[in-house]
Amino acid sequence: MPDDDHRIEPTEHELGALGHAIRRAFEISEMHDDRAPIVAAVLIDGEVVAWGDNEVHVANDPSRHAEIVAMANAVADQPEDALRGAALVTTLQPCEMCLGAIGMAGIARVIFAASKGNVGEGYFAYPDLSLADFAGAAKRPFGWAGPVMEADVLRLYAD
Ligand SMILES: [Zn+2]
Repeated sequence: MPDDDHRIEPTEHELGALGHAIRRAFEISEMHDDRAPIVAAVLIDGEVVAWGDNEVHVANDPSRHAEIVAMANAVADQPEDALRGAALVTTLQPCEMCLGAIGMAGIARVIFAASKGNVGEGYFAYPDLSLADFAGAAKRPFGWAGPVMEADVLRLYAD
């Protein structure tokens, strides 16, 4: 399956949210604590409804990736199907776990900054599975855009 099948163009709102997420990721990195500087946001109808930071080391829970946290925050006071058709922006290409959750939630648009091929291997558990594999196999197809603004963020993850 060609990589381009599910490519989308990010909207101005999505780019604005991604820029904000990148600034927050740098703020986290400058605190020099144990947190991974990865930040995500969920947009519904073009507006940011929730943010999420990576909380793996805060919560001592390997599943608390920024994307998972953002999706959980987005539906904290709404039915879980509120994420159907939503957009998710994140400073780092979503890992395979998060792509699974994105598919379960029915997220329709995924926009990310740093891309898998340019970051440390530790961020991904299944090197041979690509984002296009997930997008092409999804029951509820989602579109994706990335890398976007990668040069602004890559030094956070290029270890
Ligand atoms: Zn993840």
